[in-house]
Amino acid sequence: MRMELPRDVIQIIDALQDAGFEAYAVGGCVRDALLGRAPSDWDITTSAFPDDMHSIFPRTVDTGVEHGTVTVLVGQNAYEVTTYRIDGPYEDGRHPSSVTFTRSLTEDLRRRDFTINAMAYSPSEGLVDIFGGADDLQRKIIRCVGNPHDRFGEDALRMLRAVRFAAQLGFSIDGATRDAIRELSGNLEKVSAERIQAELVKLLVSDNPEEMRTAWELGLTAVFLPEFDRMMDTPQNNRHHCYSVGEHVLHALSAVRPDKVMRLAVLLHDIGKPDCVTVGEDGQDHFHGHPELSAQMAHGIMRRLKFDNDTTEQVCALVRWHDTRPEPTDKSVRRMASRVGAERLPDLLELQRADVMAQSVEGRAEKLERIDKVEEVFEKLKAENQCMKKSELAINGHDIIALGASPGPGLGAIIDRLFEQVLDEPDLNTREQLLELAKAEMQKTGTE
Ligand code: ATP
Ligand code: MG
Repeated sequence: MRMELPRDVIQIIDALQDAGFEAYAVGGCVRDALLGRAPSDWDITTSAFPDDMHSIFPRTVDTGVEHGTVTVLVGQNAYEVTTYRIDGPYEDGRHPSSVTFTRSLTEDLRRRDFTINAMAYSPSEGLVDIFGGADDLQRKIIRCVGNPHDRFGEDALRMLRAVRFAAQLGFSIDGATRDAIRELSGNLEKVSAERIQAELVKLLVSDNPEEMRTAWELGLTAVFLPEFDRMMDTPQNNRHHCYSVGEHVLHALSAVRPDKVMRLAVLLHDIGKPDCVTVGEDGQDHFHGHPELSAQMAHGIMRRLKFDNDTTEQVCALVRWHDTRPEPTDKSVRRMASRVGAERLPDLLELQRADVMAQSVEGRAEKLERIDKVEEVFEKLKAENQCMKKSELAINGHDIIALGASPGPGLGAIIDRLFEQVLDEPDLNTREQLLELAKAEMQKTGTE
C-alpha cells in the first residue's frame, strides 16, 4: 500500500536513510492517514541517535533529547524525530524510570499504547504493522499493544486515552482492554492533572462527547470527576426532564459546537444539582440555586484540573447564567448581556438551546421560540449600537475624576450606577447627560 507523505517528511526520511539509518513516519499520523483524516502532526521514528541527527540536519532543536527526541526544522515547519526507544520499568504508574535507545523498530512499536497507534510507514518499506493495527482500524477497535493490564499498569493515563480515541474516531474499546480499565481505573489517581485535562478536552471536543458515559462506566470519572458520577446518580422527577442529571448532560454535549469552552460549560452546567434537590408540594423535584452552586463547583473543579484562568472564567460565567431566561424585551436582553458579557450572550443562547434539546419534548417549541426571540432582540440592539458593556458608556473614570471624584472603589460604584441607569434607559448614554448624572451621584454619596 502507498501513503501520501508531505514532502518535508519524505526529505527527512531520505536524509536519515542516506546516512545508513532506518526512518519511518509513526504513530498518530500513520493512523490518521490510513483513515483518510488529515494528521495534526507528522512524527518520525529512527534508528539514528540524537548525535547522528545533529550531524545529518543543519537546523535542529533539542526538545526532548534525553528521551531521544530532536526537533528538525525544515522551512517554516518543525518535525519531531525520535530515536527508537524502549521504556524502562514504570515504578510510579506514569513515567518510565529510564529510557534506553534501541536499533529495533519492533521494540519501539511495542512500547506504544494501542495497535492503531503502533504502525510505521516509509516510502521504501511501506506499512509496518506488527500488532494488527490496520485490522483494528477496519474493525473500529481500540486495543492495547500486548497485555492491557501491564500497559495500564505502566502508564495509567492510557486508560483515559483509550476512551478519548474511541470518542474521536467513533470506535469501541476491545473487551480485554475494557475489562482491564474497569479493574485498574483507580490508578488514574497517580496521573497529573495536566495530562488528564489534555485528554478530557480532546474527548469533549470530539465528534462523540457522549463517550464520557464510557469513562463513567469504566470508573474513570470516579477518579478525576466524582461530581459527574453524582449527576449520573441523580434522577429528575420533573415534567421538564426525561433524563437523570447526568444523562441530560450527556445528551446536551453534542448539541453545542465542538469548542472547548462550550463543551466544558455543558459538562458542568448542572454539576451542583445533586446538592440542590428539594421535593415541592407538587411532588416534583426542584433544584433551586443550582446555577450559583454549579458555577462555584465548576470553578473548584477547573482549578483542580489546572485549567487556565481565562477558560475557567468563561466557562463559569456560562454556567452561572445558563438558567436565567430573559424576556425578549430590549430592557431584559440588555441586562442579560451586561451580566454574562455581550460577547458571550450568543454562546449562552447556544448553551440554552442545547439544554432545552436535552429536556422533555413537551414545551420544547415554546422554549426554543423564546430563545430565538431573545436572539433577535440582541441582534437589533447590537445593530443600534446600544450600550451593553460598561466600556461602552459615553464617559469613563477619567471624566468623573475630572469632575473632582477621587480614584478608588467609590468611583467604581458611581460608574456601576450610571451603567444601571443606561441599561434601563439607553437614551441617557450621552456625554452631557452622564456628566450631570455623575455629579448628582457624587453629591449623593459625598465623593466630592
Ligand atoms: P493526536 O496527536 O492526534 O492527539 P496521537 O496518536 O498523535 O494523536 P500523541 O499523544 O501525539 O497521540 O502521541 C503520539 C504517539 O505516541 C501515539 O500515537 C502513540 O504511538 C505514542 N504514545 C503517546 N502517548 C503514549 C502513552 N501514554 N503510552 C504509550 N504510547 C503513547
Ligand atoms: Mg500527535
